[in-house]
Amino acid sequence: MIPLSASLARVRPSPTVAASQRARELIAAGRDVISLSAGEPDFDTPRHVKDAAIAALEGGKTKYTAPDGIPELKAAIAAKFRRENGLDYAREEITVGSGGKQVIFNALMATLNPGDEVVIPAPYWVSYPDIVRLAGAEPVIVETEMAAGFKLAPAALEAAITPRTRWVLLNSPGNPSGAGYGRAELAALAEVLLRHEQVLVLADDIYEHIAYEGFTFATPAEVAPRLRDRTLTLNGVSKAYAMTGWRIGYAGGPAELIAAMGKLQSQSTTCPAALSQWAAVAALEGPQDFLAEARAAYRRRRDLVVERLNAIPGVACPVPEGAFYVYPSIAGLIGRTTAGGRRIGSDQDFTDALLEEQGVAAVFGAAFGLSPHFRVSYATSDAVLEDACARIAAFVGGMR
Ligand code: PLP
Repeated sequence: MIPLSASLARVRPSPTVAASQRARELIAAGRDVISLSAGEPDFDTPRHVKDAAIAALEGGKTKYTAPDGIPELKAAIAAKFRRENGLDYAREEITVGSGGKQVIFNALMATLNPGDEVVIPAPYWVSYPDIVRLAGAEPVIVETEMAAGFKLAPAALEAAITPRTRWVLLNSPGNPSGAGYGRAELAALAEVLLRHEQVLVLADDIYEHIAYEGFTFATPAEVAPRLRDRTLTLNGVSKAYAMTGWRIGYAGGPAELIAAMGKLQSQSTTCPAALSQWAAVAALEGPQDFLAEARAAYRRRRDLVVERLNAIPGVACPVPEGAFYVYPSIAGLIGRTTAGGRRIGSDQDFTDALLEEQGVAAVFGAAFGLSPHFRVSYATSDAVLEDACARIAAFVGGMR
C-alpha cells in the first residue's frame, strides 16, 4: 500500500466529476443514459477562437510563457474588467491560471494556514470546501434557504465570521442553485465585510455572462470599492465561451496576493498552456455575439426544465437567475419507495435510483452541502431535456 499524505486524506474526490464518470461508464456499457451532471456548455468553442489557437500554433507560440499569463492576455483581461465591470486592474493585479479552479486553488493555498476559517454559503460549488481542507484550513458552512432564494443573509454572514476567518467565498450566479446577488444584496453583505478587515473576499464570477432578464450582474469590488483591496475577482473563459477544455481562468486582485499566487504557480504548472492563452485573448477581444446566443438558448432551456419539474408532484423547482443549473427540492419525496423497490431516504438515494431505474444522471444535493435537493445541468439540447424530464416524471410517478 502506498502511504498517502495527510492533506489528501482530508479531501473527497469531486462528486460531480464522479457522477459524470459513472454516466460515461454506463453509456460505454451500452446503457441508455442521459447525463445532466456535467457543468459545461454543450456548444462548440466559437470559430474565431479556434482560429486564433491555430494561428498561434502555426506561429510557433508553443513555448513556456510568463508564469501567470502573457502580457497580451493580461491586457485583454484588464480591458474586460474595465469594459464589463467598471474595475481598473493594473497588470501586476491580474493573474491567469489553468482554469478558474487553479486560480482559486492558488489563492487559498497561498493564504491559508491550519486553524484558519473560510466562510462558504451552501449550496456551494463542490470544490470550495475540499480546496480549503487541502490547504489545512476549516470550511465554515452557512446553509441558505430555498425560500430566501438560496442567498446568504447579512446577519448569517456576520454570525459566521470569527477572528480566524480569512476568506468568504461568494459565487454569483451560483453553482448549483443559479442564484444571483443583485447590487443591493452585495452592498448589504459588503457592509458586514467592511467591519471585518481580516477577511478576504472571493468573488467567483465565472457565470457572469449566463444571467437572465430581471437580474443584473454585479461584482463586490465594483459595488463596494472599499473592499477592492481585499477582493479577488475571479472569472474565466470556460463557461462564457464554451472553452472548458482549454483550461484558462483569471482574476484581478491586490498585487501582493497576485504575486504570491504567481509564485505558487511557478512551482506547480509553470504557466497556463500557451495556445490556450492565445485562444483566450481572441475570446475576450473578438466578437461577443456568442454570449447573447448562448444566453438565449440557456434561458429557453431553463424555462423548459423549471416548468416540467414543477409539474411533478413532490418536486419544487425555483427559477434561477443565472448559470445553467436548477436545484429543485425533493423534500416531498423523502420516505417514498420507487417502482424498483428502492426506499428514498436521502437525495443520494434519489439520484442513485433515478440513474438505475430511468437512466438519468444528476448530482445529489448533499454533494453541494444542502439537502434534500438534486442538481440538473440544463446545458444540453431541448430534446434531451424533454426526454430527461419525462423520465424523471415517470420515475416519481412510479413511487409509492
Ligand atoms: N467556479 C464555479 C462556481 C464553477 O462551477 C466552476 C466549474 O465548474 C469553476 C469555478 C471552475 O471552472 P474552470 O476551472 O473550468 O475555469
